[in-house]
Amino acid sequence: MSILSVRHLQKHFGDLKVLNDIDFEVQEGETVCIIGSSGSGKSTLLRCLNLLEMPDGGEICYHDKNIMEGHIDLNMHRAKIGMVFQSFYLFNNMNVLENCVLGQRKVLKRDRKACEAKALELLTKVGMEKFVKAMPSTLSGGQKQRVAIARALCMDPEVLLFDEPTSALDPEMVNDVLNVMKGLSGSGLTMVVVTHEMSFAHDVADRVIFMDKGVIEEEGTPEQLFDNPQKERTKAFLSHEK
Ligand code: ADP
Ligand code: MG
Repeated sequence: MSILSVRHLQKHFGDLKVLNDIDFEVQEGETVCIIGSSGSGKSTLLRCLNLLEMPDGGEICYHDKNIMEGHIDLNMHRAKIGMVFQSFYLFNNMNVLENCVLGQRKVLKRDRKACEAKALELLTKVGMEKFVKAMPSTLSGGQKQRVAIARALCMDPEVLLFDEPTSALDPEMVNDVLNVMKGLSGSGLTMVVVTHEMSFAHDVADRVIFMDKGVIEEEGTPEQLFDNPQKERTKAFLSHEK
């Protein structure tokens, strides 16, 4: 079953066509990796999926309902389609536990006890349970990103979007975050991951999408896309990534 289904998606910034007729589906339980050069529109596509950007045309259906039409509760939508950013965006004025409690209180209206129990459960899942009282400024990048992942998971998302979650990390921390993501993928969470980590995409993705200049140039299984790319642009991109 498709959770997300994008048809003919268009997005411009002024004269610049950033997404040009994108068709894209995400099935329940899938991990989809999106690769492509800087500026190809990957972040804009993710941002459209949770309506941080408003597309100019086409449709985005979430469980067969076009979210670009009629009223939608943006906070609830962003809880259900969570996002993890390259630069974490933790709330720096509150500790790790409160970071994980706030959205649950405000958007899901859970009582504090339930929020704290959920936060502790998810912080344990990402290996950050010892840091509940820590302020974000005292954490390493890898630790911050694991908290950001736990915070997103506290909202019981149906889909988690990751926008280059390891690109801002020191190399020795990249694997801590990738291993958490691998675990989530294995446990059946539906994920869309923009990444430059080709070996992660190769090993973990069910499907890989190569974007170039605002279009989906090629897509397939990791074996098809990495081992037997069909398009010249895909081949050229992959040869630079090696
Ligand atoms: P990627 O994530 O693949 O690097 P982006 O989606 O960030 O690509 O950007 C695609 C293009 O859109 C780039 O040329 C970028 O400069 C441009 N762009 C992105 N966001 C904006 C914006 N808010 N205003 C104007 N141009 C933007
Ligand atoms: Mg980007």
